[in-house]
Amino acid sequence: MTTDLDALAARLREDAKELCAEDQRDEHFQVADRALVSRFRTAEIEEAAADALLAARAKIDRLHQEQAEEDAGHTLALKAACDQRDAALQRAKEAETLALFGLACLDEARRELGDLDGGWIEDTGRTMGVLTAVEVTERCTADEGACRCEEYGFPTTCVRDSEAVKAYRAARPVPPGEGAPGG
Ligand SMILES: [Zn+2]
Repeated sequence: MTTDLDALAARLREDAKELCAEDQRDEHFQVADRALVSRFRTAEIEEAAADALLAARAKIDRLHQEQAEEDAGHTLALKAACDQRDAALQRAKEAETLALFGLACLDEARRELGDLDGGWIEDTGRTMGVLTAVEVTERCTADEGACRCEEYGFPTTCVRDSEAVKAYRAARPVPPGEGAPGG
């Protein structure tokens, strides 16, 4: 009887050992499978991450490019605005010469009850920087503006627009048909 029981127990132990070994094998297989799956997933994640990085870098580059273009546009617009402002200031300075002369004419006309003397106009214009006297020995060209010095014979003094008046004439918008008299 004892021998039978011992034999049974021994067989059970053997079975149990085998079963245990099978379980462990399965477990090892599962671990191995999980590791394999995990490796594939890691590769997929790495690839997705690399794609995302590339996309992000491309987007940053695009944004930088857009920003640079926008900055360049702003710089150009700013420069254009500054140029316009400088030109307007320059025109205002040139116009002031004429404005002060106009004011002097107005005051003189009031003082003289409306009459302005040609000699006074020329003298005042020269003093106030509206007219410039140039000694000439021959006929002036149209470039020199309105003058009648030819009527006086040469050499003579030609009274021309000053540089400020020339610049103001050149810069202001001239309506069609209007311009310097004579020529
Ligand atoms: Zn002349």
